[in-house]
Amino acid sequence: MTLGSRPPAREGSGRRATALQVSDLVVRYGGRRDPVRAVDGVGFEVARGTTLGIIGESGSGKSTLAKAIAGLVRIDSGAVSIAGPDGGLAPAAPSAGRDGQVQMIFQDPVLALNPLRPVWKSVVEPLTPRRATVPRELRDRAVELLGQVGLGPDIADRRPGRMSGGQRQRVTIARAVAARAPIVLCDEPVAALDISVQSGVLRLLDELRGAFDLTYVFISHDMSSIARIAHDVGVMYLGRLVEIGPVREVLRSPRHPYTQGLIRAVPRIGLGARADEVQPLEGEIPDPRRPPSGCRFRTRCPFAQELCAREEPAPEKVAEPVSDEGSVHRTACHFWREIRAGTAARRPH
Ligand code: ADP
Ligand code: MG
Repeated sequence: MTLGSRPPAREGSGRRATALQVSDLVVRYGGRRDPVRAVDGVGFEVARGTTLGIIGESGSGKSTLAKAIAGLVRIDSGAVSIAGPDGGLAPAAPSAGRDGQVQMIFQDPVLALNPLRPVWKSVVEPLTPRRATVPRELRDRAVELLGQVGLGPDIADRRPGRMSGGQRQRVTIARAVAARAPIVLCDEPVAALDISVQSGVLRLLDELRGAFDLTYVFISHDMSSIARIAHDVGVMYLGRLVEIGPVREVLRSPRHPYTQGLIRAVPRIGLGARADEVQPLEGEIPDPRRPPSGCRFRTRCPFAQELCAREEPAPEKVAEPVSDEGSVHRTACHFWREIRAGTAARRPH
């Protein structure tokens, strides 16, 4: 069962080509008995040159999804397909060969950079064979790449320890650009940075996407970053995608009670909302080894009924695409129509 953000591109239509397709992806950690179902049947497509945001609380499987796309964890079932130079989708290369297809930018640039190397060497790492020493000739290329991420040539010979967090993240972004991979996975790339430098890094990522026609999967637990950078957004809960669609539509008109809860939990700065108007989501995420039957969100859902425990809701289209390029808004909730109409019963206690 695939909760796709877009229907497959039709021949001759004006739709953008699909750059990345994930189908029915399952990743489990641990042994056969009681595995953690970190990603449990997730599917979507991302159009070339666009950004799919992925949001969800900690533990919902976002990082595992990114690692599976990058080939950094073993997939139990399902598939990751990536468009080749001719535009056709093909199964992703075996993990060792995926660097040229997919690059990852992590939350913590300190861990992602070798502390002993001047940063220019880290930037051109993808251009050098594994474990080879980095040839001096590549320094000019590194300086050029550093320039593209807004860092001057004086930075090239510095070690990461002598740079700010924002500068370090720009270095890892330059490295991702160096690889010329068409798909870039950003896993909470600004979460560890000071608020004051977050905007600049988000803007840089967006500019690079435009300049190099990159396709992003942008993971964040922060709705405001997603709203700023993503075209589409997918909402994950306990290993599953519960809602996906154009970001403006999902934010303005969320259909899944989990998405509605996530949005209500965000304080709206500058709109006069007071702290006591923010409603945090109630309850804890259940143990991913024993997810609730039926709909996984039902144990925290104010609208859960008996049906929700019995049957897993299938994803449904909730609105027509707004334009030919627009993605389809879908959700997986038995009662989204009633919730929208205000006629859904509250959960019996
Ligand atoms: P998120 O990035 O949304 O916080 P993760 O993908 O990191 O979610 O984790 C999803 C689930 O998988 C969590 O329950 C987490 O504890 C578990 N998990 C993540 N990595 C491992 C691992 N290497 N071994 C076992 N369990 C893991
Ligand atoms: Mg994570």
